[in-house]
Amino acid sequence: MNQPNENIDLIPDSHPRAKSLRERHKLIIGMKNLVVAEAGLIAHGRGEAFDYILGEKTNPPAIKAMNAAVAMLMLAKHPIISVNGNTAALISKELVKLSKILNSKLEINLFYRKEGRVEAIKNMLVKAGAEEILGINEIEMVEIEELTCNRRRVAPNGIKIADVVFVPLEDGDRTEALKKLGKKVIAVDLNPLSRTSINADITIVDNIIRVVPKMIEIATKLKEYTKKRLNEIILKFNNKKNICTMLNLIKEYIETQKEVSFR
Ligand code: ATP
Ligand code: MG
Repeated sequence: MNQPNENIDLIPDSHPRAKSLRERHKLIIGMKNLVVAEAGLIAHGRGEAFDYILGEKTNPPAIKAMNAAVAMLMLAKHPIISVNGNTAALISKELVKLSKILNSKLEINLFYRKEGRVEAIKNMLVKAGAEEILGINEIEMVEIEELTCNRRRVAPNGIKIADVVFVPLEDGDRTEALKKLGKKVIAVDLNPLSRTSINADITIVDNIIRVVPKMIEIATKLKEYTKKRLNEIILKFNNKKNICTMLNLIKEYIETQKEVSFR
């Protein structure tokens, strides 16, 4: 395993951006260990920009979306959690925990399928406690025609037959393709305006780092709910309306900021 030069311990707790720097560090290590694609660092940067605008916190519309997402995953026949490099590097332990609570299988599905990456991500998930991981065995994979990139190769007992797919940090093309196949798509995307956000059935506009632990908490609570009650949560949820509420929050935040006056 490569040893990165940067030392995470050198980031002082007092640094105003300590948390964000530590996340970056996880991704840099991930990139050096093949888990994260180079382009994954750029994607993260785009996410960070939106996180800043959203106040780097979980906002009420995200909580609403997470409740609907957990309810939908609980009611699904074949729920699947799609894992990419960034997700594995940032939050694999919690993701494995969530998959167990939701009885939802994990499938590795990558845009950049570099030699050794699937193996590196698999190892990371195993280390995090995963018992079953789909998307590893190349020979068994099948293709979904709606997609042209590497991501068209999916597991026959995973994304191929899934009715609900949870796709953190997704690419717009694949969200559209999964939708065309009649699947319900739940996305986590800090950019409320991305094609993914607009096209998903449920969009959680929040940082994946905060989302997965919160979803575990919600899943523990919703486990006690009847199917009827879970269904009601989904029916009450309107994705476009929820995204608009999030955009209004950004606007309100800017309007309430006091400018520094010159004396
Ligand atoms: P789209 O393909 O949906 O139009 P895009 O091409 O702008 O979007 P991609 O590079 O395909 O974006 O995917 C990265 C997305 O993941 C970005 O929208 C970014 O905001 C989001 N993202 C990155 N890091 C995180 C994170 N930690 N938590 C949540 N979202 C994130
Ligand atoms: Mg994209």
